[in-house]
Amino acid sequence: MQEARNTASRSTGLTDLRTLTHGQLLETLKELGQPAFRVKQIEEWIWEKGASSFDDMTNLPKALRSALSDQFTLGGVSQVARQVSEDGSRKYLLRYADNTTVECVGMPSGNKLAVCVSSQAGCGMGCAFCATGAAGLTRSLTAGEIYDQVIHVRDDFDSRVSSVVLMGQGEPFVNYDATLAAMRKINSPDGLGIGARHITVSTCGIIPAIKRFANEPEQFTLAVSLHSAVQRTRNALMPGVRKFSLMHLYEVMGEYVDKTGRRPTYEYALIRGVNDTEDELGALCDFCRDNLAHVNIIKLNEVKGSRFQPSSDARAGEFVRRLANVGVEATIRQSRGQDIDAACGQLKQRLGK
Ligand code: SAH
Ligand code: SF4
Repeated sequence: MQEARNTASRSTGLTDLRTLTHGQLLETLKELGQPAFRVKQIEEWIWEKGASSFDDMTNLPKALRSALSDQFTLGGVSQVARQVSEDGSRKYLLRYADNTTVECVGMPSGNKLAVCVSSQAGCGMGCAFCATGAAGLTRSLTAGEIYDQVIHVRDDFDSRVSSVVLMGQGEPFVNYDATLAAMRKINSPDGLGIGARHITVSTCGIIPAIKRFANEPEQFTLAVSLHSAVQRTRNALMPGVRKFSLMHLYEVMGEYVDKTGRRPTYEYALIRGVNDTEDELGALCDFCRDNLAHVNIIKLNEVKGSRFQPSSDARAGEFVRRLANVGVEATIRQSRGQDIDAACGQLKQRLGK
């Protein structure tokens, strides 16, 4: 219980019920003199139905609802703003109980709905091309807070969510436990029941966490932000992971593939004159060839005040062709929601531009 108590909301002093493990919840209800089947009922309310108030839990006795609300909150988010892109994507600014805010995005296509969520408010990794990095880290989110974003988007679209990417604000692998717990809830039939392969986590390359992730039993998808296979360039673009060399990353990703048999994605945002030169292309081909890999070429999204510019479409096409020539699968990722600053690297914590 101690651990859960430590995550008590700063504004209310109460604990978010969703930070309790199944065992802790069982224990709590026992202390309240309740039968064990109440745990299942409560878990259904918090994870499947996304209840935001104890009063919604109509199959619980009133006295129990009241006892729970004396000790716990249900987390929950409030929507501060919602913007709709001309391509149908919606970006949300959400606020938690302690006033921390984050952004998340819903991206419909056909009858599918992809949701992009944040793992932290802000980010401490300081990547030179990223709006989130520029603002620094406010705090990590709990599993329930990450999960809440998916529920919020689902309810706003009133549609089943088909895939979730942890590619919003923050570095998920410096918030590993909460991230994994959220992914498990999203995957679980008691939660959203989304297949593990349709849940993707993106990391800037925290090596110890990648090793750990390789041992997780689920078939989650891993994306690694590479952005350059030249050490000097990568150090300049991604100072937060300077201490993990590309050589080490290469080795660890080899181990990941051997262990899991799963194909990782490498993300590569093309920046004119920085990581789109012939040397850079050669190094990227060497990093990926003979390895199970998918390269996602992303057109750099412009971030206000940044000195970086995107490469041309022709250059992006050339990257894809040359990677294909050495047997590496590559695609150009279409950015969604650019007109509302909802594309990769454009998420901030405040309203407006
Ligand atoms: N911190 C994690 C996940 C969030 S960032 C990570 O870095 O992987 C999600 C993706 O957006 C990453 O691949 C990131 O490198 C990319 N990104 C950041 N800024 C960008 C920008 N201005 N243009 C395009 N992609 C960007
Ligand atoms: Fe953080 Fe990812 Fe942005 Fe880098 S790209 S600053 S790791 S959110």
